[in-house]
Amino acid sequence: MDDSYRFNIGDFQCLAVNDGDFIGNADLLFVNAPEKELLQVLKRYNLKQDHLPSTWTCLLIKTPTNVVLVDTGFGSGGNYGGRLLPILHAEGFKPEDIDTVILTHAHADHIGGCVDSAGNVVFPQATFYMWYEEWDYWTIETNLKKAPEWAANVARQKLPPLLDHLEKIDSETDIVPGIRAIAAPGHTAGHIAVEVESGGDYLLNLADVALHPIQIEYPEWYARLDQYPKQTVTARHTIYQRAAETNAMVLAFHFPPFPSLGRISKQKSRWKWQPSHE
Ligand SMILES: [Zn+2]
Repeated sequence: MDDSYRFNIGDFQCLAVNDGDFIGNADLLFVNAPEKELLQVLKRYNLKQDHLPSTWTCLLIKTPTNVVLVDTGFGSGGNYGGRLLPILHAEGFKPEDIDTVILTHAHADHIGGCVDSAGNVVFPQATFYMWYEEWDYWTIETNLKKAPEWAANVARQKLPPLLDHLEKIDSETDIVPGIRAIAAPGHTAGHIAVEVESGGDYLLNLADVALHPIQIEYPEWYARLDQYPKQTVTARHTIYQRAAETNAMVLAFHFPPFPSLGRISKQKSRWKWQPSHE
């Protein structure tokens, strides 16, 4: 498995980083898929229902003005992932080089790497950005009490130390020149996608709008982890449409194989995923 992958969007240098990977299953990923149809689709994709590889792909973007990290992986010292920092180091980036961290949502595989086990912020020079509804949801104890314990515990541990370094996002304007949040709620309350634009080239980072390539072709099949299923499906259509219209390179955090890149187009009224790597 490759550790990292470099590519350009206009003048921006991008680095996809493989924080880790795991094997999921159909029960987790396609809760409402009709069983017979699901089995046919899995067969067509050459996949087994109890063996669905998944990646955790973080993204570093070096622009003429900023060094931006989108999502931070699980963080070191846990049972999963945690490869982001050593890979960044090998690629010549120190944590203090990063001035902007965009968190697409507050699940463990996206915010785990923000704060170390001693409670220190890992990227000391960075301003952290999260959509305001996401931050508010995961920092209010009455919400956390209702959330699954694994998610609530990570939020309790990783979010409060960021408060002094935080800017909440409430609009789709540029966070830094050429990089903006796109509201895509559903997977969580304030989940965002991230659009990158330079020299007429686009990258759309889906984050967890879809968790598996099959959910490009079948946007109506939501996952157990999608907190608001109806909104998840709506967000998928909106974001896929945007990716197709801008002919964007698409990065989808969990799509195998690493570096989780491809393009989305419409064919015969269905969305289609065209991976850049087989
Ligand atoms: Zn995720």
